[in-house]
Amino acid sequence: MSTIPDSLFAGNGNRSDGGTGRGGSTTHPPVVDPPTADCRIDPFLGTVVHVVGTRQARPNLPVSGCPFCPGGLESPGPYDVRSFKNRWPAMPGERCEVVLYTSDHDATFWSLGVNGARKVIDLWASRTEELGTRDDVDFVLVFENRGPEVGATIAHPHGQIYAYDHVPERPARLFRASWRPEVDPGERMVATVGDWVAAVPYASTFPIAVTLAPRSPVPDLVSLDAAGRNELAALLVDVLGRLDRLYDQPLPYMMWLNQRPTDNGDWPDAWFHIEIVSPWRRAGTARFIAAAEVACGEYFNPVIPEVLAEQLRALT
Ligand SMILES: [Zn+2]
Repeated sequence: MSTIPDSLFAGNGNRSDGGTGRGGSTTHPPVVDPPTADCRIDPFLGTVVHVVGTRQARPNLPVSGCPFCPGGLESPGPYDVRSFKNRWPAMPGERCEVVLYTSDHDATFWSLGVNGARKVIDLWASRTEELGTRDDVDFVLVFENRGPEVGATIAHPHGQIYAYDHVPERPARLFRASWRPEVDPGERMVATVGDWVAAVPYASTFPIAVTLAPRSPVPDLVSLDAAGRNELAALLVDVLGRLDRLYDQPLPYMMWLNQRPTDNGDWPDAWFHIEIVSPWRRAGTARFIAAAEVACGEYFNPVIPEVLAEQLRALT
């Protein structure tokens, strides 16, 4: 069911989709099946907006103690890595989870070392597999917001998982366009471990951006064998360490995994890769996505990708 109110279309004589809000119209692009009751789609741009009023009640910071430390609200006992349902889900239907990388409050992803990072990767994979088998889950997004600058409310090292009941447009576009790593990133190469390559993308919308991918096609984490997971762990530890050394302080970043959708659709070109981006154009200074960029969907990046890659390569 569409949740677009008909009143939005008052006076719009071009509407020809029979009032469903999607399909059939050349004026209003069909995007995805409207997923849930709380999900709206802009009738003109096709932008998907999850209206989540309950999130307003979410505390900015825990009132007492860290809920993720052993003995805390979300972690009664000791653990290495751990996942659980998000107490403040952005979507209904048990679709939002929290992933704890370590019981050490002061750790970073890179300080976990390869063995610790491998445990996180294995947990990401098992959660992807379990959520992806649900009939009502078409896409599993594993991601991390690191630092208050990008909205992380708790400092303890952790990430999140959203299990969507549709395939969101951006990953669908990437895979339909047959995304694959560059054969030779040249001046934008950052590091390699085994089959895995990290490079600054050609045209990132963010000042800081690094993409990690295997040279051989692998559709998702579940399909990545033990050797591949170890290489990925080593490359993540390497790259995230370089990013923290870039400005000699913890870099706020967003990281997400692009994995094959779990909608049982045909995605022959799905090529697993990880994107890491940061809004900082220099230490402590965020580049805001501003009016012209929001208005026109075209971006102005003050950091030259080749220069960023050179800086990161030097931070061995
Ligand atoms: Zn903690």
